[in-house]
Amino acid sequence: MTDNHIPKDFHSFESDAPFERCIQCNKYLLDDDTEYIIEKAVKNYERYEAKDVVFDYAICMDCAEEMRKEISKESWQSMMNYFQQNMDVHARLQMQNQSPTENLSKCMIKNTHMDQCSEYQIYAHCRGNKLNMENPPYMISGEVMEELIPLLSEKTIDEMNGFMNKHFSPDPSLMEPIPPRLVLL
Ligand SMILES: [Zn+2]
Repeated sequence: MTDNHIPKDFHSFESDAPFERCIQCNKYLLDDDTEYIIEKAVKNYERYEAKDVVFDYAICMDCAEEMRKEISKESWQSMMNYFQQNMDVHARLQMQNQSPTENLSKCMIKNTHMDQCSEYQIYAHCRGNKLNMENPPYMISGEVMEELIPLLSEKTIDEMNGFMNKHFSPDPSLMEPIPPRLVLL
């Protein structure tokens, strides 16, 4: 059995504790059967051995699904094609049997080690206070994000920026266009 407790990597940066609420509808997330996604974007300052959380949040499945509907069909299709062409499906399945720490240590697409990524995003699919290991947590390097952005329509990018602006007011120098959460079920 894999350890499926939610690692600290996915705790809220603000509270240093597990996320309790959906960022969109405020639904309570830690009931046993409640499914949700956690997404966190991190910048690495290798030289200073420091990390900076650019943003993080949890979103319930209903809200994630609503947001997915806002993504244009073309953008969604291009992203799916990208993952089909670039993701090692066998390796992805093996992640179900690896520890979350191991899964997060390198980019799911490029295999780049976390420490070598100037920025990266991590994703977890959770159920209550546990990880859903059928869809194990993963990390996507900044390099992949840069390859994804040109595949997205302007409308999709506007939608994503709208979401970011609604919920976060980060230092603009830290902001990058953000690809939508990639729920790979
Ligand atoms: Zn919600």
